[in-house]
Parts: sequence; C-alpha cells; structure tokens
Amino acid sequence: MKPSPLRLERPRSLEEALALLAEHGEDAKPIAGGQSLVPMLNFRLAAPAVLVDLNQVPALALIECADGVVRVGAMTPQRDLERHAGALAACPLLRLALPYVGHVATRNRGTVGGSIAHADAAAELPLLLQTLGGAVEVTGTGGSRLVPAEEFFVSHLTSCLAPDEIVAEVRFPAGGPGWGAGFAEVAPRHGDYAVCALACALRVEDGVVAEARLGAAAVSDRPVRLAAAERALVGSRCEPEALAAATEEARRAVDPSDGMHASAGYRRHLSGVLAGRSARRAYDMAVGG
Ligand code: FAD
Repeated sequence: MKPSPLRLERPRSLEEALALLAEHGEDAKPIAGGQSLVPMLNFRLAAPAVLVDLNQVPALALIECADGVVRVGAMTPQRDLERHAGALAACPLLRLALPYVGHVATRNRGTVGGSIAHADAAAELPLLLQTLGGAVEVTGTGGSRLVPAEEFFVSHLTSCLAPDEIVAEVRFPAGGPGWGAGFAEVAPRHGDYAVCALACALRVEDGVVAEARLGAAAVSDRPVRLAAAERALVGSRCEPEALAAATEEARRAVDPSDGMHASAGYRRHLSGVLAGRSARRAYDMAVGG
C-alpha cells in the first residue's frame, strides 16, 4: 500500500517546525528517521495530512556527557550514539543495548528521539530510559518542560505530547563509581523487536548491592520497572539465593499478553530468567568481573 495524500513540510529551524505543528494540530505529525512512521503510513495506520520533517532542524542533534547525564538530541541517529565512546563509557547500558535496536541500516536512519516518541513497548531505548530513571525534554510553542520517563511512557497508544510539542532531547543518567550494567534480550531473529528484554543497573559497595534498577520491555504496553525484584537484590552479593528471589519476583510482577512470537507464559518465564541473567552481568561489571 501507499500513504494517503499528504504534504511534506521541511522547516529549517525549531521555531518553524513548532509553528507548523501548532498550525496543523492533530492533522500533522513530525517525521524523523521514518523507520517506524513510513511503514505506518504505507499501511495507513497513520494518515496525517501534513508531515513535518525534522531532518533540517540543526538544534536537535547533539550528544553531551556532563554532570552525570548523557544528553542526546532527538534527531541524533541511533548509530551515532552507538559509536560515541564518551556516551558508552558514561552509560554502559547504551553500549550493551544499542546493537539490539533493529539493524545497522535502520540505526543509521532511525533517531533516538523517534524511538522514544514512538515508544514501542518492546523497544530498547525506552526500556533503558525507564530503567535508569531518565527524562525527556519536550519543546512546544509554549516553551520546554522536562518529563520524567515514568510520566512520559504512559502507554504506546497515547502520548504525553501536545500536538504542537516534540521530543527535543533525551537524558540518560550516567553510572558512576561502583555502578555496573547488564542487558539480556530474546528476539525471534537478530534485529527483530524483543519478545522480552531486561535491563539492569546496580551500584555495589564493598561487594554488596546498594542500589538496584531493573526494567523489562515487551511485557506490558510500556517499559516497566520491577521494584520487588530490585528489592530482592539490594543488600545481597547477587548470590544464587538473591538471584533466585529476583527471578521469582520478576516473573510475578509482569502480566504479559500473548503475542505473535511468544505466549504470555513464555514471556513471563523469560522475564524471570532474563532478570537473573542481567542482574548477574551487572554485578560482575560492578565488581570488575
Ligand atoms: P520515525 O519513524 O520518523 O517516527 C516514529 C514516531 O515518532 C512517529 O509517530 C513520529 O511522528 C514520532 N516522532 C519522531 N521524532 C519525534 C520527535 N522528535 N518528537 C516527537 N515525535 C517524534 N526499534 C527498536 O527499538 N528495536 C528494534 O528491534 C527495532 N527493529 C526494527 C527493525 C526494522 C526492520 C525497522 C524498519 C525498524 C525497527 N525498529 C526497532 C524501529 C526503529 O528503531 C525506529 O528508528 C524507531 O522506532 C523510530 O525512530 P525514527 O527516527 O525512525 O522515527
């Protein structure tokens, strides 16, 4: 199929892009890398009358690591972030998870802001932002606001963005001394969306877990934090008993639905297994294993 008739606008400044979105309201959609939106247009799952192309807007592409945060401009290609040594060193979860986002070809075009805005429940970048407790800088004609990840990812079907707002920047908390990261994913084939993915960050002091963050993707309509499993890890040395407890809590916490590639039961099982696996990997990284 082909998209329904539409007009493409190519603003050259953020102000111009926002004015176009404000002028056309619900009839307009921003387009970034097009790796999700173009297939939706072709299947008529989206039929905006106006597409506002963000690719000429210079203010939206940046990668900066400062003050414990990795700041990524919305129009930054996923591949640029994947090759940014400073960002990967500051936030090891990015290094672990980015290779799972589609393929190199899609990462060359796909953007960090587009992935966050698209907010697919199985997507890796929203999972990392949710797990790490990051934030999204949203900009509109009325100004900018910083939205914490847990407020941004309300559900894949609705968005917290007003019609005249865009994602301008994505902020991933950097780790720091004593932090380790672990990531584990099962997908039908490399490059496919996850059937289940788990991200873990642990801060370890003298061999004991002082802080734990554990998130899961593809088990709900958004990425979710697994608080009970996190509590099972805090105070432990990630010994087998603690990992078993975290595994059980993760399995209990999720309520997945049957999907094309996996049953709800299998996703629940994977949530437990991948929780234990990602936590072990994060602990080993934190203690220098
Ligand atoms: P677009 O497709 O241009 O836009 C996506 C949506 O976000 C649209 O609704 C658009 O209006 C909106 N949007 C875009 N930018 C902004 C902004 N700055 N502010 C507000 N709204 C905005 N993704 C994964 O996470 N994991 C995968 O395994 C995966 N596999 C893939 C495999 C294939 C073959 C393909 C084609 C894609 C895959 N993707 C996967 C999706 C890919 O990562 C997309 O790049 C991403 O989901 C959207 O980024 P984009 O820049 O292409 O956005």
